[in-house]
Amino acid sequence: MPFFHSARWWAAAALTTSSLIAGEGKWTPQQVLQLDPLMLRKQGLELPVSRLWDPRRGAGLLAATVNIGGCSGGFVSSTGLILTNHHCLFGVVQEHSRPDRDLITAGFVARTREEELPGKTTRVTVPRKFTDVTAEINAAAPAGAGDLDRSKAVDAKQKSLVAACEASAGARCRVAAFDGGLQYVLIESLELSDVRLVYAPPRAVGEFGGEVDNWMWPRHTGDFAMARAYKDGKPYTPGFYFPIARTGVKPGDFVMVLGYPGRTVRSLTAAEMAAQRDFYYTLREQLYGEWIRALEDSTKDNPAAAITVAATLKSLSNVYKNAQGQLAGLARGRIIEKQQAHEESVKTWASPRPEFAKALLAKQDLDARAAARRKTATRDFLLQAVANGPLALKHATQLVRLAAEREKADADRETDYMDREIPRLRARMERDQKSLFQPADQAMFAAWIARALKLAEGERIEAVDRVFGSGDSLKTLAYLYQSTKVTSLAERLKMFDESLAQLRARRDPLLGFAFLLEPELRSFQAAEKTHDGAVARLRPEWRRAVIAHTGKPVAPDANGTLRVSFAQVKGYAPRDGVIYTPQTTLAGMLEKHTGVEPFDLPQAVVDAARTIDAAKVPLNFLADADTTGGNSGSPTVNGRGELVGLNFDRVWENVANDFGYNPAVARNISVDIRFLLWLLKDVEKADNLLRELQPAGK
Ligand code: ASP
Repeated sequence: MPFFHSARWWAAAALTTSSLIAGEGKWTPQQVLQLDPLMLRKQGLELPVSRLWDPRRGAGLLAATVNIGGCSGGFVSSTGLILTNHHCLFGVVQEHSRPDRDLITAGFVARTREEELPGKTTRVTVPRKFTDVTAEINAAAPAGAGDLDRSKAVDAKQKSLVAACEASAGARCRVAAFDGGLQYVLIESLELSDVRLVYAPPRAVGEFGGEVDNWMWPRHTGDFAMARAYKDGKPYTPGFYFPIARTGVKPGDFVMVLGYPGRTVRSLTAAEMAAQRDFYYTLREQLYGEWIRALEDSTKDNPAAAITVAATLKSLSNVYKNAQGQLAGLARGRIIEKQQAHEESVKTWASPRPEFAKALLAKQDLDARAAARRKTATRDFLLQAVANGPLALKHATQLVRLAAEREKADADRETDYMDREIPRLRARMERDQKSLFQPADQAMFAAWIARALKLAEGERIEAVDRVFGSGDSLKTLAYLYQSTKVTSLAERLKMFDESLAQLRARRDPLLGFAFLLEPELRSFQAAEKTHDGAVARLRPEWRRAVIAHTGKPVAPDANGTLRVSFAQVKGYAPRDGVIYTPQTTLAGMLEKHTGVEPFDLPQAVVDAARTIDAAKVPLNFLADADTTGGNSGSPTVNGRGELVGLNFDRVWENVANDFGYNPAVARNISVDIRFLLWLLKDVEKADNLLRELQPAGK
């Protein structure tokens, strides 16, 4: 069954749109098969499309592209070696670091298999099969059902499809919604849960330029690392892996970026986008900024504590700067205004066409909902942030929820608390202890409470008011941290298996707060479910009109599923009078090296670089691939399917491409594989790893 439209429609559209491929579009594997092969060849694809993906066999080079802990990665050897970004495996490096063995600073090379370091919660999924289940999902929702019932029915159907799919050995399945529910696809992957760290460069290389250079060009960051996937205690043998290109890229070359982009919001209406800007990103920037300061201030001059919070601090900082980039980019690119203008033209086009009458009503409804949601958006943001914030709060609320959900039959539980999730939830709770530095956690919690106490009338969080609303909230919080057992790993793991009654009987004050918060979290989540049900009904109607008006294939918004982007290596003009070239080299890295963080290279790198012509070692390059968060670690390959680099970032002017693609500034950043080869050879002397990386054509 065609993925989006009939094959004939696709072919006709493809023939008329020769500039279709380069640039915009995170194409699904099925869409790739429906694109005009001649056009792909013209762009630079030398392989037959079937080598990328053969749906009958569930095989092809795309199957060498894995999801690794929310990032992307690629198999690069027959013995399960995976290349991804340093920032994607940073949590594992932090998990194994101590002040007397600081792998964050020094980096890590496993010289033998025995030396590899297991990641407690790292998992890899390898794609196997995609099945269109739109008809089944739509049939599951009773005709005329209310939005909550619709949402529940869709949920139940998804769970039963997933359960049937996971009956086959090692399978991990999900049903992904495309374009808000225009299409549903059941995705079957193989899950590998034994993943070990093989190589991480010193932080000063893997994160060269730190937060100063993050989301920026020109860039000189060696953002890569390696892991190995094991199955039944032995290195996993992937069906496909990427050979290493013998010749690197140059300006104008064709490249493909394969990976798992997380979430984009291009299909939102302008009104929905504006709400994201005014609340989600604005509040994110504010709260995450406070959390970052809390972590920095409470760990100053304490090296052990700095290691403990390193991974949290790094990811908060990344998301914080991203929020700034989204806000700046929305304004600079006038993206919402453009979306509005586009909507007007769709409306004018659709008005005289009776088949789109429902689409116009759906759009009105989506906008009205966006307006209504503004009333509680600040509170909703804070309730949502519970899952990403202070560990004590996150754990306490999870423990209460887990105990409540356990009282239900498995299929009736929330997805996150079904039996299939329990082991990973437990592993995360255990793993989190390595990131828990109590003063930092407490300071983050205090920032969250301060914001909750300032909420407007009509969106108060009652639990916060009751516990922290009178008296000195900081003192109350300090008392909670002093008396709770949730922050003790051993006690927390005991609580993990306890019933609601047992948890209550503990009279733990932090659990007490979580019990008070639970009904508010539940009713917020139920409201979200109702909203999701409405959106799943409305968005597809509106999108049908938008896509028909566009008259050419439209790639759906990112949703964490496998995608391919076709691109070209090229620079850009960030502003009037400035042109950026698309490649940097080791020489530029040396130029930036001041000896002061975050431009402080290890001496071994400087020494090795000075013995060669550093301008001949390519380091980072730009292309106009359509990427987002989650594409970190994506294999960047040439037209022959050979690995030339790894995607790791976007440029500042392109952060807001989550809302809309602008070809003038849409640039992703990859680290060049030739830099990795140089580093492994000249600096790390990691011959064992170099032997494993197979050059193409061998
Ligand atoms: N650096 C990004 C990330 O953290 C990749 C991107 O958003 O382009 O996921």
